[in-house]
Amino acid sequence: MNGNRGQRFLVDAMLGNIVSWLRILGYDSEYWDGDDGKLVQKALEEDRIILTKDRELYVYSMRCGVQAVLIDGNNTAQILGALNRKNKISLEFDPENTRCPTCNHLLRRNKGVFRDEWICSNCGKRYWMGRHWKNITRILEEAKKIGRRS
Ligand SMILES: [Zn+2]
Repeated sequence: MNGNRGQRFLVDAMLGNIVSWLRILGYDSEYWDGDDGKLVQKALEEDRIILTKDRELYVYSMRCGVQAVLIDGNNTAQILGALNRKNKISLEFDPENTRCPTCNHLLRRNKGVFRDEWICSNCGKRYWMGRHWKNITRILEEAKKIGRRS
């Protein structure tokens, strides 16, 4: 069932880097920094779930018929764990279904002899599992534990 990757998100600016995490995990996610009314409008038009830390915005979204998730805390693993629990987002990295952390475009995997690369056909960026990958894996493992907890 593809880990429910059909869900699309609209991430409030206050949640900063969560948008990149969702993209790495393969979720179509846009970042929003601006007017609340327009944010809700965009979510309606594009069928996106709003992620926010702002209770007022959360209540307003729900009132407008937009699905929203109220997030608390600043810890990335905790936020991802909560989304895993509430929205059933997958915390498994899928090399064939991952998006550009910068521009949200689907990445193409290029298998190499020494290492695989992921290339964005939109912005041209290339990615590989460098030193930072250990850190990404660690946070995802932490998130899985949190997701299982409650
Ligand atoms: Zn890109």
